[in-house]
Amino acid sequence: MNSKGSKKVYIRTFGCQMNERDSELISGMLRDDDYDITEDIEKADIILFNTCSVRQHAEDRVIGNLQKLKTRKKKNPDLKIGVLGCMAQRHGEMLFKEYPQVDVVVGPSNIYDIPKLLIDGKTEEKTLAVKNKKRPKKGPTPEYRNGTFSAFVNIMYGCNNYCSYCIVPYVRGREVSRPKKEIVKEVKMLADKGFKEVMLLGQNVNSYGKGQTQKVNLAELLEAVNRVKGIERIRFTTSNPKDAEKSLFRAMRDFDKVCEYLHLPIQSGSNKILDLMNRKYSYENYVRKIDLLRSMIPDVGLSTDILIGFPSEKERDFKDTIKAMEEIKYNSAFIFKYSPRPPAMSSFLVDDVPEYIKKERNTELLNIQKKISHAKNKELIGTEQEVLIEGKSRMSEKEMVGRIRNNTSCVVKGDDSLIGKIVKVKIVGTSPFTLKGELEADLFLSGE
Ligand code: SAM
Ligand code: SF4
Repeated sequence: MNSKGSKKVYIRTFGCQMNERDSELISGMLRDDDYDITEDIEKADIILFNTCSVRQHAEDRVIGNLQKLKTRKKKNPDLKIGVLGCMAQRHGEMLFKEYPQVDVVVGPSNIYDIPKLLIDGKTEEKTLAVKNKKRPKKGPTPEYRNGTFSAFVNIMYGCNNYCSYCIVPYVRGREVSRPKKEIVKEVKMLADKGFKEVMLLGQNVNSYGKGQTQKVNLAELLEAVNRVKGIERIRFTTSNPKDAEKSLFRAMRDFDKVCEYLHLPIQSGSNKILDLMNRKYSYENYVRKIDLLRSMIPDVGLSTDILIGFPSEKERDFKDTIKAMEEIKYNSAFIFKYSPRPPAMSSFLVDDVPEYIKKERNTELLNIQKKISHAKNKELIGTEQEVLIEGKSRMSEKEMVGRIRNNTSCVVKGDDSLIGKIVKVKIVGTSPFTLKGELEADLFLSGE
């Protein structure tokens, strides 16, 4: 494939927000290179899957999609198929052997090379790019974004933590922080284009700045981003509890644009399991941090990830996790069933919790969280909240949906003209996961 311009590229993203951002970057680079990005896979000359390896299920979905393309590739050998991201790094060369329809395999730390790789590779050649194990600190930052009012901004790549269950350090490489100056420049560019919200991304944003020549931490970065005119909301994710510190909580309290919301994955309430997971905090230590945060920001929104069915998780360990959920009372929680991810360390332990028990525990935790989320939402009835409207509600044509500052979803009567605006509402009702707000007439806070 030697010409571009008229070539249509379809990109599908699997997995986390970091992958979504990487796909935007790839789209941006290819658009700048005169490719057409299409939403229609049938019309594409180049099909790219930006993949996730965190759970087996995520990989299975990609494999299913590759299988579906086998016949099409046979009929049209000029069709180019690429596997990008974490699966590319994890399986490398093997992908060509198992799925001969694949032409290009590019790991997450090599994505800046994609435009060049798509031009260089001849149709009959396979292109493997997994050599960079660490994302370069600086790379092209095309202006392109999928949205118009809320944007992802990478602040760091990779992870050094090696939690025993996790594939991320093996596929996304060692931790590297982007220079503060570059990040602030990018946020200013977004503000100039009318974006109101930025979500700062990294696998462990609390260690932002480590290893940089210029000493800087997350709180200082938040302070700098908080100064950018035009930006009204700042969010960040994800935080590893072991590195969550008072300086961050202070930044959340003191910088007006930083939303009062923290995603702090606990993974388990059992100290035995936390230890086996190599998380480097105990339950007691975690709760002390939450208590401190809540004493500083009483109405902070909290969410978490819980990993159930980790090897050797006994009923009593699971009970500890239930107790943790009932004591901490998160606003929301993401529950995952453990799947072994070689070469991550826990894959050497026997995956001894049967699938049916994982399912039962999953359902039990979801039910507990549903009740807690509902109760937390009811506490907000009667309060005034600011909602950044994101789009139409799935439940009703006449309602729009957005998020209040603590990250809870809220529906409001209205139409598309509200999208991207921050409106003041009074909370008048709630379901387990979604608040209902009433617009306080003429109280648009922004977007006029
Ligand atoms: N960096 C974040 C942190 O330290 O909490 C987590 C990022 S990880 C990509 C997102 C979530 O996937 C984790 O919090 C964990 O609950 C889940 N996860 C990671 N490895 C998993 C595995 N082997 N099986 C199932 N879920 C897993
Ligand atoms: Fe994975 Fe742990 Fe790194 Fe999060 S902190 S990405 S769970 S290794």
